[in-house]
Amino acid sequence: MLMSHTSAEMYELKKKVEELKKIRGRGTELVSLYIPAGYDLNKIMQQLREEYGTAQNIKSKTTRKNVLGALERAMQHLKLYKQTPPTGLALFVGNVSEQEGVTDIRVFAIVPPEPLNVRLYRCDQTFVTEPLEEMLRVKEAYGLITVEKNEATIGVLRGKRIDVIDDLTSNVPGKTRAGGQSARRYERIREQETHEFMKRIAQHANEAFLPLLEKGELKGIIIGGPGPTKDEFVEGDYLHHELKKRIIGVVDISYHGEYGLKELVEKASDILAEQEVIKEKKLIKEFFKHLVKDTGLITYGEKEVRNALQLGAVDTLLISEGYDLVRVKAKCNNCGWEELKTMHENEYEVFKRQFKTCPKCRSQNISFEKWDVAEELIKMAEESGSNVEIISLDTEEGQQFYKAFGGLGALLRYKIHQ
Ligand SMILES: [Zn+2]
Repeated sequence: MLMSHTSAEMYELKKKVEELKKIRGRGTELVSLYIPAGYDLNKIMQQLREEYGTAQNIKSKTTRKNVLGALERAMQHLKLYKQTPPTGLALFVGNVSEQEGVTDIRVFAIVPPEPLNVRLYRCDQTFVTEPLEEMLRVKEAYGLITVEKNEATIGVLRGKRIDVIDDLTSNVPGKTRAGGQSARRYERIREQETHEFMKRIAQHANEAFLPLLEKGELKGIIIGGPGPTKDEFVEGDYLHHELKKRIIGVVDISYHGEYGLKELVEKASDILAEQEVIKEKKLIKEFFKHLVKDTGLITYGEKEVRNALQLGAVDTLLISEGYDLVRVKAKCNNCGWEELKTMHENEYEVFKRQFKTCPKCRSQNISFEKWDVAEELIKMAEESGSNVEIISLDTEEGQQFYKAFGGLGALLRYKIHQ
């Protein structure tokens, strides 16, 4: 997954989503509430009051109690806001206690890094996280073009959202019924008109896609159409050559316009899934290549990567989605002694016991801190303008990277001596 300037926020969002996904209600008692950017909070409050009324009819006593409790907490929480935050709000409320008979209602409020455009209320056994997961993917854009003789549609796919950019129609005349001389003349005019139309499609596509390419957001272009016109368009020198190189698929579709774009995305789903995998594989292969050749242009290990980030030497930070180490700190408030360590989450309790007393001054006035290493490193990468890539565990390369290198490494801008 490519992350741009908001990668730290995106990473935090990813963590929260993962946490939410693990929570299971005993009954259908977990409340998910999505409020779009700019939406009237009073209307949401009104809806929650109505839901509260409806929830009185829930048959199971425990579920009813938990749903009512969750709704009360949701309404309480919303009172903290004068208005909907600029990017909207996602609220998750429910009983998270894993012990039967014990109630522990928690509120998870997420102000998303990008505007929410979904309004949703649901009470279920799990929280609804798809709209946020969607947001994690929207940094990547795919250009879409459907081409027919007389019509063309240009669109952009981000996550699952398709935006129509342009709808073009041509005045290419239909097949003529006249015979002989005039039929041939019409044919020539038709060809000329088709050629002009394709030039126009390309011009609009260039205008739509070249800026995305410059921003590094354009991951590929998919072209579709019902007949051979799309192939003529692809093969002819219509599109800008940089865009032509980005064509990742040409597919047959039967619709045009907005439906055509939807059909195009459906038919190209394998191609799209493949792209993600190809990119990750390529990065990890590059990492291994430098390793084998000993070019000095990679580094791995938490301490080494941290150092390289501090030097501003990291081109691309590679973090496996399986990477889960935490950084912990013990500090004596009496003499200032400090101990910093990186460890697994489950070692934290032992660490806290180990340093209950300051080894220097024997004071027991110790404060502890714990944070996520991945989040910290991603923030450092952002500050030094490095790219960040989260490597999935879905590929053999990704697994290898996780197992052999603990899932953390970096491609470097220049050699450093460590
Ligand atoms: Zn001390």
